[in-house]
Amino acid sequence: MKLYQYGSSTYEARMHAILHALPDTLFLLDEEGRYIEVMSGDEKQLFREKEKLLGKTLNDVFPEEDADFFLGIISQALETNELVVINYEMNVQSGTRTFEGRAVPANYQVDGKRTVVFLAIDVTDRRESDIRGRLISTVFENSMEGMVILDKDLKVVSVNEAFCKFAEMDMDSAQGNVPQFIERLMSTDTGSELQHSLEKTGHWMGEIIGRKADGVTCPLWLTVNAVKDYIGKLTNYVALITDVSEIKRSQEELEYVATHDFLTKLPNRVLFHDRLQQAIARTMRTGNIGALFFMDLDRFKDVNDNLGHHVGDDLLKQVSERLLAVCRSSDTLARLGGDEFTLVVEGLEQTSELALIAEKVLQAFADPFALGAYKLEISVSIGISVFPRDSGDINELIKHADTAMYSAKESGRNTYRFYTQELTTNAFEYFAMEIALQKALERNEFFLVYQPQYNIITNEMIGVEALLRWRHPDMGVLSPGVFIHVAEYSGKIEAIGEWVISEVCGQCKIWDADGLPLFTVSLNLSRKQLVLPGLSGYVKNVLEESGVSGDRLEFEITESAILDQKDTVYENLKELQQMDIRMAIDDFGTGYSSLVNLKQFPLSRLKIDKSFVRDVSRDPNNEAIIRATIALGKSFNLNIIAEGVEKEEQRDFLLKEGCNEAQGFLYSDPVPPESITELLRLRKSVSN
Ligand code: C2E
Ligand code: CA
Ligand code: CA
Repeated sequence: MKLYQYGSSTYEARMHAILHALPDTLFLLDEEGRYIEVMSGDEKQLFREKEKLLGKTLNDVFPEEDADFFLGIISQALETNELVVINYEMNVQSGTRTFEGRAVPANYQVDGKRTVVFLAIDVTDRRESDIRGRLISTVFENSMEGMVILDKDLKVVSVNEAFCKFAEMDMDSAQGNVPQFIERLMSTDTGSELQHSLEKTGHWMGEIIGRKADGVTCPLWLTVNAVKDYIGKLTNYVALITDVSEIKRSQEELEYVATHDFLTKLPNRVLFHDRLQQAIARTMRTGNIGALFFMDLDRFKDVNDNLGHHVGDDLLKQVSERLLAVCRSSDTLARLGGDEFTLVVEGLEQTSELALIAEKVLQAFADPFALGAYKLEISVSIGISVFPRDSGDINELIKHADTAMYSAKESGRNTYRFYTQELTTNAFEYFAMEIALQKALERNEFFLVYQPQYNIITNEMIGVEALLRWRHPDMGVLSPGVFIHVAEYSGKIEAIGEWVISEVCGQCKIWDADGLPLFTVSLNLSRKQLVLPGLSGYVKNVLEESGVSGDRLEFEITESAILDQKDTVYENLKELQQMDIRMAIDDFGTGYSSLVNLKQFPLSRLKIDKSFVRDVSRDPNNEAIIRATIALGKSFNLNIIAEGVEKEEQRDFLLKEGCNEAQGFLYSDPVPPESITELLRLRKSVSN
């Protein structure tokens, strides 16, 4: 066998140099598998050193199986006279590598044997990146997370199914378009924040609102990374989207569990503390009243011990339901544990409202509880601390309410106590009064007195104001200042107010029958009456029945009552106006309204409050207020009357400032209707 010699010509030397520079290895093998030539730029890519191969056959260097495999390839190439490509792995000197082998039949014989050129290309790296690529695309396609690759103009290069689900698009039409939600996002603040962050750091993540195919919105977590090429030029964005609604829900669930009582689903101690703290802060700001009710079931332990815990649990659940039914939505009812419940209320104007709530709570326990086969009478003891009156400190308030609750227990249970003794007394007086009020109408204990109103210049009586009195069975004659607020809070004012209206009309009829000159009768309307939808209808009926015309009446209302912003107030006033009834603003100057606010209402008169009149010649500020009120009233075309005029100097001041009407002790006390009749008869006879 003759081995081919290198360097026999310049041409060969050149070929040799070129072949050695290639990264691949070239073998020339004859049909029997003998190595005729081996050329490699890197000896390590060889199975053995070149010298150990040359002249040897495949059978000499490889195990039989491997040798046969390669011989088969050689035969195939020679037989078909075509290129044969195979992939194989081999332990070469640099390690285990993957090769692509290309066997090409050569048009060249050695010792009468045909030859094959075998090119071994190391494809290990390529294969690895191939595998990695395939893995990545499998992950990409099957991931539960939405993934999208965008070009620098935010158009979709590649997208997976999960992404399409959140991004309101389908796989087919996605390509080449900017996803809708990204378009929308870009016009929001979050969008500009995202853009800014991508420019600065190449990265952004945050929560956005996505919309699923069915239109339901869901919270999504979006991560965007900018991808740059070798020279740092931006080429792509990769965005990941995860649906976080589940995570959020479980977070919320966790929070719910941490802040609520398992048995009753009421807020627990943690949330109660939080809410009480907030309520205290709000009350400090608004100047309203708030309170903490501490409620403890009476003899709960007996139920638990004798009937078992499950009956006890059932009772607690029923109690929480009944308590919830008496709460307003803004109140916080909580269970602190055991049979201890708390109620936080706020936004109240008077402490008497608290007694009403306590009564309602006691009332909630009036019916027996059905527990399995039993019907049990259960009562509750309530302790109340008031904020900010008793304290502005949460722990002190709890302590005070607890103390008050124990004193309720000591007083025989099934009752309530305020931390401040005085409030308890007030509350009980309040209820005594409420109960008495209930019977006052039936028993005819109300009556009206009338206070004349005068024209200051002519000294003529121009009208009267009807004022309510109550002949209390034990306490004698009471002024409205003592009982009107009880009537308002207990809802009695409606019936009492109606009684006043019909009583006034009845009295007008009597005066008219006596042939007295006509004069206006003013009567006071409570703010609670003004919001009743039935008010104007009632008045209309009374006027019709008594035959008294509406222009005999004037209703006195306070600023705050008409500024209640309720539609019924406005409607009532309009309808009363249509009956020719006049409206006066009572106690003017003590509210916070400006006349401008009042302009939209049909008013005829302003009544300067007696507190301003009282201080005439003592307080220049009050004089200024009176002066301004008169000027303002005139500019709005309203009559002005001053009430509480007791002294001549007050009357003189009013006259000087242009107020021509007055009412007060200087002229007359409120008197029974007969005295008015007398007065007018006398006048009539004098003038005759
Ligand atoms: P008001 O409308 O401001 O009534 C005037 C009050 O001042 C009356 O008290 C009257 O007796 C008193 N007064 C009269 N002249 C003088 C005076 O020269 N000096 C002083 N210091 N006081 C004077 P009264 O009758 O106790 O009524 C108190 C309030 O009760 C009334 O204030 C009114 O707001 C309300 N009220 C009276 N009657 C009714 C009624 O029928 N219905 C309703 N809803 N409220 C009424
Ligand atoms: Ca009045
Ligand atoms: Ca008044």
